[in-house]
Amino acid sequence: MEEKTIGSRITKQRQAILNVLRSTTTHPTADWIYEEVRKIIPNISLGTVYRNLGILKEMGELMELDFGSTFSRYDGNPTNHYHFCCNQCGHVYDLELTPLFNLEEEAAKQSEHIIKHHRLEFYGICKTCQDQSTSNG
Ligand code: ZN
Ligand code: MN
Repeated sequence: MEEKTIGSRITKQRQAILNVLRSTTTHPTADWIYEEVRKIIPNISLGTVYRNLGILKEMGELMELDFGSTFSRYDGNPTNHYHFCCNQCGHVYDLELTPLFNLEEEAAKQSEHIIKHHRLEFYGICKTCQDQSTSNG
């Protein structure tokens, strides 16, 4: 009985974190997720959020994105897709590109390594930042 109660509490926390993450397209930080989950589960701790983000990542339910910054961003869409990171405002956008799985095949063929996944990141100035600089100048 006791075990079941603990189990369902953990599941509830994990589900709330996943729901928050999947309700946004902004690729938020753990701090942002924590603030949102607290609106649903007020007594949840930041450590619990971090721990569950790690577990959900292991489960393949989310992606952890690291664009060379000191903190990670999280993505509720775990399927391989590409991102554009704006150097000016720091926003992370999804790109409508078909993943280059033939690139993985090519790399595997050439190297005899087992390729499990690949990552490709795009950087530059986003449309919003471009529009702002033209309207200001
Ligand atoms: Zn921007
Ligand atoms: Mn994404």
